[in-house]
Amino acid sequence: MRVLVTGGAGYIGSHAAKRLLDSGHQVVVVDNLFRGHRQAVPPGAPFVQADLRDTSAIEKTLRQHDIECVMHFAALAYVGESVLQPLDYFENNAGGSASLLRAMDHVGVRKLVFSSTCATYGEPPPPEIPIAETCPQSPINPYGWSKLFVERMMRDYARSNDKFCFAALRYFNVAGCAVDGSLGEDHHPETHLIPVLLNVALGKLPGAVIFGDDYPTPDGTCIRDYLHVEDLADAHITVMESLNKGDQRFYNLGTGNGASVHQVVEAVRAVTGHPIPVEIGPRREGDPPMLYANPRKIKDELGWEAQRKDIKQMVADAWRWFEKHPNGY
Ligand code: UDP
Repeated sequence: MRVLVTGGAGYIGSHAAKRLLDSGHQVVVVDNLFRGHRQAVPPGAPFVQADLRDTSAIEKTLRQHDIECVMHFAALAYVGESVLQPLDYFENNAGGSASLLRAMDHVGVRKLVFSSTCATYGEPPPPEIPIAETCPQSPINPYGWSKLFVERMMRDYARSNDKFCFAALRYFNVAGCAVDGSLGEDHHPETHLIPVLLNVALGKLPGAVIFGDDYPTPDGTCIRDYLHVEDLADAHITVMESLNKGDQRFYNLGTGNGASVHQVVEAVRAVTGHPIPVEIGPRREGDPPMLYANPRKIKDELGWEAQRKDIKQMVADAWRWFEKHPNGY
């Protein structure tokens, strides 16, 4: 298929673009390079530097490359930043997506695979965990809302155009780097647990802070469902290849297993051989104690399940890239 990957210079988008190429699809990448890296765009994918809000640039790209499907990753994705700068999130994530849909509508591109998030569920009550797609969506920050708005937009647009089909993939925590070492994770600023711990191992930070160890979990630290970025990329391709006219699909993407912050720290110690000094700090606002997916729906319907479930393996794949690229791309 001829696929436009928005945000294909970013962490997840670049991995998806590479897996698409590896599996025989044709890929065009569009990215505004606000936080993406030109070097992350895999060779073999033509690159267009444009912002999604530039509807005519997107329309031109869709036409020029005769695009059949869009995989839409481009977004701002920091929860804390979204609280401080909500309008940026609504303009970029919701506004950018509306513009993309408009361009697709003008050109007649009818397939969309959208990068959504488990942040659309907010803080589900304990009986809802593990989280299934039927869990009520009630975001607790503008980032989650901006993604939920896009889900809503796609549903409403689909009602007006019966040829349009889409899938919203609600990711849990994404981890790891390309197994062949060709692509990595390079965020500025970096706030995610595994890269922060790897920066400690590289000597770029003296130590890490664990945000609270008094949660109602077995070791007191928060539990998250870490999914390997290569598994995530494969899930996108499986979903894209299965989408048919009129489909409206929603899938939670995770392993179904949780790892606590302490367990992740231990995995990083084991993989890097570095002692990784940590101190216990206060809780970070908006961190639910436990979030992990019930991944049964996508397995039952499409046969996809995560293949690389071991947190140590994910850390090892990330470490390979971080060691070779201590200063990022
Ligand atoms: N975390 C931590 N110290 C850090 C970064 C993260 O203790 O320096 C914790 C955070 O509170 C959460 C988990 O690690 O419980 C995963 O956080 P991350 O920011 O990686 O992803 P999130 O779950 O917020 O999407």
